[in-house]
Amino acid sequence: MKKSTRLLSLLLVFVLVFALMGSAFAENAATTAAKGEMAGQIVLLHTNDVHGAISGYAKVAALKQAYEAKGAYVLLLDAGDYSQGTVYVSSDKGANAVALMNLAGYDAAAVGNHEFDYGFDQLKTNLSAAKFQVLAANVLYNGKVAFKDNTVFTAPDGTKIGVFGLDTPETATKANPAMIKGVTFGSDAEIIAAAAAQVKALKAAGAKYVVCLGHLGVDTESVGHQSLDVIKAVSGIDLFIDGHSHSVIDGNTNTLISGTTKTKLDAGSTMAKYLASGAKARISSSTRWTR
Ligand SMILES: [Zn+2]
Repeated sequence: MKKSTRLLSLLLVFVLVFALMGSAFAENAATTAAKGEMAGQIVLLHTNDVHGAISGYAKVAALKQAYEAKGAYVLLLDAGDYSQGTVYVSSDKGANAVALMNLAGYDAAAVGNHEFDYGFDQLKTNLSAAKFQVLAANVLYNGKVAFKDNTVFTAPDGTKIGVFGLDTPETATKANPAMIKGVTFGSDAEIIAAAAAQVKALKAAGAKYVVCLGHLGVDTESVGHQSLDVIKAVSGIDLFIDGHSHSVIDGNTNTLISGTTKTKLDAGSTMAKYLASGAKARISSSTRWTR
């Protein structure tokens, strides 16, 4: 973990119908909101690796409200590692993070490896208070899904957005094994298979868009279960919201329009190379949010 550059990645992705580009957009959304201006649009806001940078929660809450005030259907998502990093969240073993995420209006979150830092029992207790969906398709407890594998959100126009979660198998060793007995995260092959099964299940449930909330990352040590590995192996994922490696993939806002490839990319970026490889889905980009 790059503590010196601890950051909160705030992402504006997957804005349907209209292109919404530019870093000034967030401010504009708050100050020039015209009611109904974004009616019929779906906006996914997402964070990852917040690591106790709690000041950001008020900001994402305001951003969500700003989009909603303009009539958009907004989902606020987090890709994991919210329970550890500063005293604000570690002082009560991660429970504060869940309370703040409830207040911010999160709709769904993955679990990251650091969610398990205080043990599985503590995590279950913390998440029992969550007003958002907790998604992790590959995390099993005694062979059964420990949290929830996926969920389907339905926009006012009936559009279904399927979201499933994945957590890094590195959790098995990065957390204290004695405190997560009975919890398994799957092999690389099992994670790929789980992702494929989730896409199939969500499509069968009528999802027009399939989103993976993954805490996998793109670190070299993660080869085999990187987000890139999943997307290369599994078709049907429209958007992969990644975490864990604290990577700023494009360094700028990434806007997708109706699932097309109209995506602003920095030449030579991981994303550009990835798309050039012919992959069908894409990983979200992010903007830096330092404390
Ligand atoms: Zn992590």
